[in-house]
Amino acid sequence: MTAGTTILDKAKTERRTVLTEFESKKLLERAGIPVVETRLVRTKQETISVSKGLGFPVVFKIASPDIVHKSDSGGVKLGIANATQASRAYSEIMSSIKQGYPSAIIHGLTVQKMARPGIEVIVGMSKDPQFGPVLMFGLGGILVELLKDVSFRIVPITKRDAAEMIREIKGYPLLNPIFAYKDRVVAVDARIILEG
Ligand code: ADP
Ligand code: MG
Repeated sequence: MTAGTTILDKAKTERRTVLTEFESKKLLERAGIPVVETRLVRTKQETISVSKGLGFPVVFKIASPDIVHKSDSGGVKLGIANATQASRAYSEIMSSIKQGYPSAIIHGLTVQKMARPGIEVIVGMSKDPQFGPVLMFGLGGILVELLKDVSFRIVPITKRDAAEMIREIKGYPLLNPIFAYKDRVVAVDARIILEG
């Protein structure tokens, strides 16, 4: 059995359609999309040893199928620089989740390499009842909810369509610096919702 089917079987067995970031990243990775190195851990001790293994600075995030907006719930800590900060960040995340989401199922925490700064974009796919699979591109991170500056195309698309989608958004001028210097892309967050 492949890792992909294991993830989907687990979600089906648990009767959930929302995959966690960790599960979503595993599926993206298998599809050939570069994903920031992400490990799932369960205890504070494991969190610290895995952080040391990956190398500081790292990022911690709550791993729970019940928490979709991880930052809003106090479930994300960026730029953790050493073991002391790691220990504190672990406790802070766990206590704010316990307080805000006492009945959430918690898979643990993810420890991730802190990606170097870049302009954040979002790439998404959804299924339109009329048109079928539709690809979305836009400015990501905190800007995505705020600006809703996105372009859409029905798939499959050509390279030329992709270039058009990028140029079409209002925030395109913001992307010039990243294109001038960029050597690669990396996904730092991921979310997959299965068809019910
Ligand atoms: P949320 O569930 O709130 O969307 P994210 O995983 O997107 O949580 O994290 C919030 C923000 O933190 C991201 O939009 C990005 O700016 C930053 N971030 C998340 N993961 C990383 C990472 N591994 N390296 C660098 N920045 C990150
Ligand atoms: Mg996000």
